[in-house]
Amino acid sequence: MDKVYLDYAATTPVDPIVVQSMLPYFTDTFGNPSSLHFFGQRAETELQRSRRRILELIHASDSDLIFTSGGTESDNLAVKGSLSTPDILSGDNLLISPVEHPAIAATCALLEKQIIIRRLRVDKYGLVETNDLISSINEKTKLVSVIWANNEIGTVNDIQSIGALCAEKGAYFHTDGVQGFAYLNVDWDKWNVDFMSFGAHKFYGPKGVGGLIIRNGTILNAVQTGGSQESNLRAGTQNLPLIVGMTKAYELVCESRDINNLKFIKLRNMIIEEIIRSIPGAYLTGHPEKRLPNHASFVFDGILGQDLVVGLDIAGFAVSSGSACKVGKPTPSQVLLSIGIPEDLARGALRVTIGKQTTEEQVQNFLDELRRLVILLRK
Ligand SMILES: *Cc1c(COP(=O)(O)O)cnc(C)c1O
Repeated sequence: MDKVYLDYAATTPVDPIVVQSMLPYFTDTFGNPSSLHFFGQRAETELQRSRRRILELIHASDSDLIFTSGGTESDNLAVKGSLSTPDILSGDNLLISPVEHPAIAATCALLEKQIIIRRLRVDKYGLVETNDLISSINEKTKLVSVIWANNEIGTVNDIQSIGALCAEKGAYFHTDGVQGFAYLNVDWDKWNVDFMSFGAHKFYGPKGVGGLIIRNGTILNAVQTGGSQESNLRAGTQNLPLIVGMTKAYELVCESRDINNLKFIKLRNMIIEEIIRSIPGAYLTGHPEKRLPNHASFVFDGILGQDLVVGLDIAGFAVSSGSACKVGKPTPSQVLLSIGIPEDLARGALRVTIGKQTTEEQVQNFLDELRRLVILLRK
């Protein structure tokens, strides 16, 4: 297959080493970790080993990790779980950024009837304005949730500073760390983050598994109820093969993070520089420096993002457009609108995200094809 995949922010292929690491847990160590017998206890031992290993890799000494079915579930657990403790009182509020992933944005929109939701101001790069946070946060703030690294525009928020401000005001701070986790180091004990979501399929692990890191001493309620698994915070038999695979994937990511990021940054900069230099009416979205190492995103004047995606797909390149593609007139992305990009320009969004399998030759061929396609579409 000579198709080129440049959509690693959407998902990544599972590393073959990860696939191998999971196999014994389907057939051999298959017990239910809650069972008292030998089979169950062997599974329980492996489950706890995975938990300890991930906590160790993020430098968390006395915090907990709840295994979930992925980033979306972790985001739901953090938001809904922290708002139900204790019952919501009138005037209570929840602060989020306007550039959240739908797992937070849509979840909070549904809660809007029960609690006041304020959307913090962001600058033209999608960075939360700390002044606005300072003036918005108060003793009625139940939770602040701000995305760490943005999936659409790649911008990396300063979650250490945001966390410190929240801690000062006594508000819980959650961050959607799903994109950040795959590329950036977590130094949990030194940070003032209370809850962080992540998911394995963004870092060469399997789909359908993730976690929520929970600072010790925070109060959270279960969203999915039933058995007492995961410290009573997430009922249901744990999916041990996927958890073991996620742990292996994260180990591999941490081991080769620095080397991989150097390669990513080189190719990413090549993409950004070439597109801005050689295509008129192409603009970078998101922060030029404070961005994910593998992430390049743009808007193109006078072109629909979906036309670029379809045209590139026919030419053999898989990329994405930030906006939700609908039949007829595509809806521009809320993320792009909230960083001040005009509606028409926001319809011309393109996201290119590279990964371990990406080569310089692929990038050059992609750039050639994109240049051709833009001229064709503008005719
Ligand atoms: C992919 C993603 C999610 C959703 O994670 P799933 O594991 O696919 O449910 C949430 N937030 C961000 C920033 C993401 O990139």
